[in-house]
Amino acid sequence: MSRQEEFVLRTVEDREVRFIRLWFTDVLGGLKSVAVVPAELEGAFSEGIGFDGSSVEGLSRVYEADMVLKPDPSTFSLLPWRGEKEPTGRMFCDINVPGGEPAQADPRNVLKRTLAKAAEKGFSFYVHPEIEFYLFKTDNLDPGTGILEGTKPIPVDTAGYFDHVNGGTANDFRRSAVTMLEAMGLSVEFSHHEAGPGQNEIDLRYADALTMADNIMTFRSVIKEVAISQGVYASFMPKPLNDHPGSGMHTHVSLFEGENNAFFEPGAMYQLSKTGRQFIAGLLTHAAELTAVTNQHVNSYKRLWTGHEAPSYISWGHRNRSALVRVPQYNSGKSSSARIEYRALDSSANPYLSYALMLAAGLKGIEEGYELPEEAEDNVWQLSDTERRAMGIQALPTSLSHALEIMEQSDLVAETLGEEVFDFFLRNKRREWNDYRAQVTPFELSKHFTSM
Ligand code: GLN
Ligand code: MG
Ligand code: MG
Ligand code: MG
Repeated sequence: MSRQEEFVLRTVEDREVRFIRLWFTDVLGGLKSVAVVPAELEGAFSEGIGFDGSSVEGLSRVYEADMVLKPDPSTFSLLPWRGEKEPTGRMFCDINVPGGEPAQADPRNVLKRTLAKAAEKGFSFYVHPEIEFYLFKTDNLDPGTGILEGTKPIPVDTAGYFDHVNGGTANDFRRSAVTMLEAMGLSVEFSHHEAGPGQNEIDLRYADALTMADNIMTFRSVIKEVAISQGVYASFMPKPLNDHPGSGMHTHVSLFEGENNAFFEPGAMYQLSKTGRQFIAGLLTHAAELTAVTNQHVNSYKRLWTGHEAPSYISWGHRNRSALVRVPQYNSGKSSSARIEYRALDSSANPYLSYALMLAAGLKGIEEGYELPEEAEDNVWQLSDTERRAMGIQALPTSLSHALEIMEQSDLVAETLGEEVFDFFLRNKRREWNDYRAQVTPFELSKHFTSM
């Protein structure tokens, strides 16, 4: 037994932990949980806990349904919302097939495989997300099912970007959320009201990509729990309101070689090294292929194509907030702060798969020595199609269907996700598109019903 496993067992005993929840994530980014009693824990560490994987989205085909959960002791934490007395703990798990091999379809394993490839080249991958979400009133949610009645979610306030709301729901909410996140070992960098009514943002301090993907899953749970306790509803839907911004999950990334930030080069333009330039070129070259995963819902494209500082075109810039990739100005001047911001992701993305693909695209840029195109200094939105064409600026996919067509042709995405995840994802998302395509929407009814 490892020292970390011993530590978990000792903590469980000392704190009189009553249940330990074993968490894992399905291919679509849904959090799954099974609770075990402390007596099961030693066996869970040595042999794992068997379960039927065929019932979990994308995990396995029915004829090879047996799967094994192996808890990762380094992720042990107590769940603050379950109280101090006889508390509940939780650990993230890797999923294995019987016999101990990692399951190809486990998103955590997809990210681990990609991180291992980066490690072979001497790189470790760090990320920090800016996570946006909305808080809504629960008045028009069906108390039984929680489903929205009608078509208009009601935000909890009418405040905007960085607004201070005296006594507002949002202040209390962020205070409780940040306290709870910290109690679970997640460091928060800052938090503020975002531009939309009821919209908030919380930025997590950077961590290695695997820890951060776990943290994002924890984050979503914490936010939902705090919302429930405050009688509001938290939504990570990419674009819940017609006339207000969507919820992005801009992610800042950097590569380290040992102690050194591989993106940093003093004296270079924006202090960005050749490796950094090639990484951006990789992201730009493959951006359209990754989009079905970083923006995985029909609704995601409503965010990408209605402005409000969400990126629609494939370009990079320094201060330009319409660009897909931004090289932020960092005021500390510290080499460790050198980073790149990728702005496509929305708050509903599967973080394991998205981070694996972003890393793979960046590494490809380095391996192949891609050239970085000119920076786009203007607001790309304001350019005409002809101007954009002249500058070689292409668009991100305009719909889920479009994104899937591009993803299907991508060797990079197929290789990184592995065959099982790749096939499942395409099949599942085509179904989502077909279901959507068959809907008569409120837009059509209000526009055409009485005029035809
Ligand atoms: N909400 C915007 C988006 O969807 C981002 C706004 C901002 O943080 N500048 O990406
Ligand atoms: Mg921000
Ligand atoms: Mg923001
Ligand atoms: Mg940002």
